[in-house]
Amino acid sequence: MSEVNIDQGEILASESEDAKRNLDTLSSLGVRSFDIMGATGSGKTALIETIAHQTGPSIKIGAIAGDVTGSADYDRFREAGISAHNLNTEGQCHLDAELVGKSLQHLPLKQLDILFIENVGNLICPASFPLGVEREIVIISVTEGEDMVRKQPKMFMQSDLLVINKIDLADIIGVNPEIPREDFLQLKPDGDVIFSSAAEGTGIDSLFNAMELNTK
Ligand code: MG
Ligand code: ZN
Repeated sequence: MSEVNIDQGEILASESEDAKRNLDTLSSLGVRSFDIMGATGSGKTALIETIAHQTGPSIKIGAIAGDVTGSADYDRFREAGISAHNLNTEGQCHLDAELVGKSLQHLPLKQLDILFIENVGNLICPASFPLGVEREIVIISVTEGEDMVRKQPKMFMQSDLLVINKIDLADIIGVNPEIPREDFLQLKPDGDVIFSSAAEGTGIDSLFNAMELNTK
């Protein structure tokens, strides 16, 4: 079985080299980079759209739309004025650093201030594949229930910023958003938790502060 272990070790090493290269490329060009992770329907795309609308044209935003197939999110980014690249994984349920590295070649990095990488909708395996970004952000929706953090601790352990989205629906569906908030802060006592409604544009100011983004 040791051969299997060596192979896995080599794969992990090349993964982390790709991730390091991505981060070097982005930071040397002054591009702030964020990996946006969360389940399908949690509001990843809407959050990026809302940020783009609220920052306005003085901050140039780029996005990689990571999806198994299709271009729905890519099309939404383009409509929001975001420089976007569509990254279809053709079945793979997470992005990896090599795929992201290839996508970076299709983006006008020198013009960008911020790059969002929207990971494949999945709260499990994206946690195992660092992409080479400045910061990893997890977004959950109150519609996913109160137990999301305690069910998927690995995902939340590696992020220091949790967005709890669709907060406007919490009362309607009878979910207490304090429960995932407290669970997260137990895992990450220094972490930030933002309550947001990407659809209504609430919580975005707090998110900008937590992300250390200056709006103009
Ligand atoms: Mg999406
Ligand atoms: Zn996967």
